Parts: sequence; C-alpha cells; structure tokens
Amino acid sequence: MTTSPLALLGGPPVIDDPGPHFSWPPIEDRDVEAVTGQLMSAVSIPDRSGVVAELEDSLASFLGVRHVITTCTGTAALHSMYAAADIGPGDEVIVPALTFHATATPLFHLGARPVLADVDTRGQLDLDEASRRITPRTKAIVAVHLWGLPESMDALTDFAARHDLMLLEDGSHAHGATWRGQQVGSFGRAAAFSMNGPKPLSAGEGGFVATDDTELYYRVLLHGQYNKRCRREIPADHALAPYAVTGMGLKLRIHPLAAALANAQLPRLKGYLAGREAVAARMRRALRGVPGIDVPHPPAHTGPAWYALPLRYRPEQLAGLPVERFLEAVHAEGASEVDLPGSTRALGDHQLFRTPGALLPGYADYRGPAADSFTTARRVHGSTVKLPVWHRDQDLHLADAYTAAIIKVAGHHKELVK
Ligand SMILES: *Cc1c(COP(=O)(O)O)cnc(C)c1O
Repeated sequence: MTTSPLALLGGPPVIDDPGPHFSWPPIEDRDVEAVTGQLMSAVSIPDRSGVVAELEDSLASFLGVRHVITTCTGTAALHSMYAAADIGPGDEVIVPALTFHATATPLFHLGARPVLADVDTRGQLDLDEASRRITPRTKAIVAVHLWGLPESMDALTDFAARHDLMLLEDGSHAHGATWRGQQVGSFGRAAAFSMNGPKPLSAGEGGFVATDDTELYYRVLLHGQYNKRCRREIPADHALAPYAVTGMGLKLRIHPLAAALANAQLPRLKGYLAGREAVAARMRRALRGVPGIDVPHPPAHTGPAWYALPLRYRPEQLAGLPVERFLEAVHAEGASEVDLPGSTRALGDHQLFRTPGALLPGYADYRGPAADSFTTARRVHGSTVKLPVWHRDQDLHLADAYTAAIIKVAGHHKELVK
C-alpha cells in the first residue's frame, strides 16, 4: 500500500498527454512551399547559385561575417573548417573534454591530435586546464557553446591571442546566440555549425562554415565543394586555382532541399530565440531554490540560444537519490522529454579517443587520455538533466507542467529513497 502522490508509486501523474511534447523544427506552410518549390526548380546545385547562394548570403549577414559555405552535415563543416585552417599531421587542437564527439573527431581524418581539456563546473572550457595542455605543436583551440549558452568569449579570445593560437568555434548548439551583442560564430578565425534536425536552425541535415578570411574560404571550397564551385570562385591567378577541378577530393555539398528548409527557417530564428528566452526565464524562475536542482545563470550580457535547459542535479541535497531514479520518477509524471545527455559526454570515455588505432591505422601508437582524467567533465555530464525549451505561448502549459513534475519529484524524494 502506498500513499505517495508520486506517479512512480501509484499516484496521479502531472501530465496525462503522452506526447511527444516537443518537436523541432516547427514546420509551417511556408516551409512546405519552400521545399516543394525547390523540388520543382533544382535538386542539384553544383555552384554557388539559387537557394544555396541565398542561404549563404542570409547566414553571412545574420552572423556578420564575410563568407558562409554550406555543407551536408555539421560534421562535414567541422572537417572542412579544420582542413581549411591548415591543421594537419601532428598538429594539436585543444577541444573541451565535454562536447558532442564530432567537435573533435574530424581531426583524426587530418592526422591531427585532439587534445582534450577539462571543463569547469558550468561545463565551459577551463582555461587553466587548457594552458597546461599547450605544447609547441598546439595550433588551435575550439570554443563550443554547449546547450546554446555562449562560452566566455572575452577570456577565450584573450587566451588565444596570448598563446598565439587560432580560435575556432563549434556553434552547433547556438545559432543566433550572442556574447555582448556579437553573434557566436563570428569571434574565431572560423566557425562550424550543424543544421541537423533538432539544432536551433535546422535543415534536417546540413551544416556550414563561417569565416571572414577569404583564403580560408577558398580552402573550405577546395576541401568539400570541388569542380564548378571552385572554378567559378577561386580567382584564376590564385596559387590554388589549378586544384579547382578536384579540390582536396571530398564532396560535402548541402542538398538543395535541405538548403530550402534552412532558408525558410532562418527569418524566424530570432523569433524562436526570443520565445525560448522568455520560456527559459519562466522555467528557471519556477525551479529556483528547488532542492537538488541548480539552474543555469548565463551572464546578463549573453543571449543564449537555449538548445536545452541544462539543470545540474545535486543528489546530496536529495538524500542521495540517484539521478536515474529521479529521472524515472519525472518520466512517470509524464515529463517524458526530460533526459540525460546521451552523445554529448566526456570525450575521453569514447573508445575512439582512447585507442583510435583499431579503426584508424595512422593512430596505432596514439594513446588517449587515462580512464580517470577529466573528472569535472565526467561529473558535469553525470549530473546534467536537460529539458526542452519551448518558444510559443501556446506551449507554456507544457513548460509549467515540466517544471511542476520536477518540483513534485524533488519534494517527495524521501519516498523514493526509503
Ligand atoms: C550536432 C553537432 C555536431 C555534428 O553535426 P551533424 O550535423 O550532426 O553532423 C557537431 N558538434 C556539435 C556540438 C553538435 O551538437
């Protein structure tokens, strides 16, 4: 017999509607028209024309950068960015130990070494850790704006300048996020973004590189956009023009239907983010002071993209209730889209970062980080509980119900540990 109101123990759940409660991107008639219109006009675009040119121009002006090159995925964008930044065999690139693996994995395909640096308790790059990992081979450092919360760009740009490192960005969680009013993705020498399904700006599948540097732009084209596009854009008298037909040999172009979707979404991005900011503020307010839950406090001069609302779970405030059991109880309340980060984790835990040699022959002698390194990255990952952030007023009841489910479970945690 139980008298607990917790749904996991037989009580009534907070949410009856089985969901899904959150889907992305929001598809409207104009998206359908844009994609079907593209279907009828061109399904292959070998140069910088049509919807590809339109999207790249719009992204460049949105971000305030000179060049944008679209790609088939964010992983491809990162690969092209590193290749174009002239990162090659033996070069070391400092990457936060807590991110999605594709921030770093393309480096393995250039013969380079991802050098992981631990994060701080907010999940942001720890610059003391980063400075300890600098060697004469260190060429670049990567800022990742995790969950859409901008990295501390004053400190990072200063750090990169002080150590003479190239600053690069992975903005895949953070389209439209700002630091002191400046768009993330416009701070470094170049930035790569994903436009995969759930990302703030979605093409379904897609990505892009942004840069002010015209030489780097040409190299991005040569990496993954060979033939027509390179022939038309790289000046005939440029030293690399003779490579235009083959480029570096990879073909990583975006699909025009994906470009059409992203192009239709982009004019609405600022509205999405304004809506998310209001909903995130409301959820943070509701959860402030709830035992066991720390809410993020991005500095007032930042404009996060709120790819998710990352909460820090504090079991020591809830009689040691394991996060898995907490989550089980939250799910039983019907808040089914609260989750623990799956693929965004401590990179040192992936087999590829430990012993890449079994898959990548060039890395036979490579030994990755020890099993007990990156304690903060692992701790932050293991205590992150993330919630979707809605953007429309008609979804406020969901945002309220999700925070109510968390408050309810935290309030009754004793019934789950006894
Ligand atoms: C999604 C993502 C990528 C990879 O992008 P794809 O489009 O899935 O290839 C890289 N880095 C981060 C931080 C991401 O979230």
